[in-house]
Amino acid sequence: MNATAHILDGTALAKKLKDELKKEVARLKETFGGVPHLVNVMVGSDPGSCAYANSQKKTAEYIGIKYELKILSGDTTQAKLISVIKELDSDSGVHGIMIHKPVPDQIDYRAVANYVAPSKDLEGINVTNIGKMMLGQTRIIPCTPAAVMELIRSTGVKLRGKEAVVVGHSEIVGKPLSLLLLAQDATVTVCHLATSQAGRLVEHVGSADVLVVAVGKAGLIKGDWIKEGAIVIDVGINKVGSGITGDIEFEKAGRRASFITPVPGGVGPVTVVMLMRNGIEAFKVQQEAKR
Ligand code: NDP
Repeated sequence: MNATAHILDGTALAKKLKDELKKEVARLKETFGGVPHLVNVMVGSDPGSCAYANSQKKTAEYIGIKYELKILSGDTTQAKLISVIKELDSDSGVHGIMIHKPVPDQIDYRAVANYVAPSKDLEGINVTNIGKMMLGQTRIIPCTPAAVMELIRSTGVKLRGKEAVVVGHSEIVGKPLSLLLLAQDATVTVCHLATSQAGRLVEHVGSADVLVVAVGKAGLIKGDWIKEGAIVIDVGINKVGSGITGDIEFEKAGRRASFITPVPGGVGPVTVVMLMRNGIEAFKVQQEAKR
């Protein structure tokens, strides 16, 4: 690889953050006599989902958090899933809940996600938490956007006044991320399919001091579109042959960027740690409410 950019090593950052959280959990155990108990509710058990859940479990164990994977059969109805969520909501021994994606077709993910109590919403995707995030009133932040912010923070570059361009405006990545960047006083542009169709993507990407791409199309962003010295974060995960790759031409972009994330080994490992951080924040909010 000929890149001149500094590679943002997500695995190394994840390790540092995990060590910090491990110390925090030990402190919480002393203060409150317990540790966060998180439950991941999975409908069906496709191998990709199980592999991701396994990485969550290992991370939780390392940090000292109790992690439970609750697998429901693939034909579980929406009503049944909601009743499981309600039961977990009312169990004071459970501090964080997530619904594993993807869910089967009979389940409306958004509808069910809103049944997770805001105080136990591990992924920060309940409408209440999204609203609070917009107002800067919650510490429970959607995991992937939170991971992107940690990676940017690790560069030491301040966002204030920078041109930040986000490509992709999904509910779980692009939209919440744009709010987090705005909260740091970046000037934020959000691009999507219509931006590409209007032929404006190259121009926006080329203006980015900080570029974050979350689309899911291998090689969508060409290396020579990148502004010299930009911070480049690739969220995309695309299966190519037996491996995975991001949305950005890594080698070429790396010759122009100042910092760049690899895929794999960039955003992914940090995202899992952010899930644990949300679990710890949820635990703290619930313990403080009892006092
Ligand atoms: P979605 O499919 O929900 O959203 C994709 C977004 O990309 C949409 O906003 C869409 O715009 C936009 N888009 C599609 N085509 C183009 C184009 N040609 N030009 C510009 N924008 C385009 O995906 P997610 O946000 O869930 O995930 C995005 C990627 O990030 C995926 O590869 C996913 O696997 C990965 N991911 C990685 C995570 C990690 O932790 N590393 C976590 C979550 C996701 P429109 O709506 O207008 O069509």
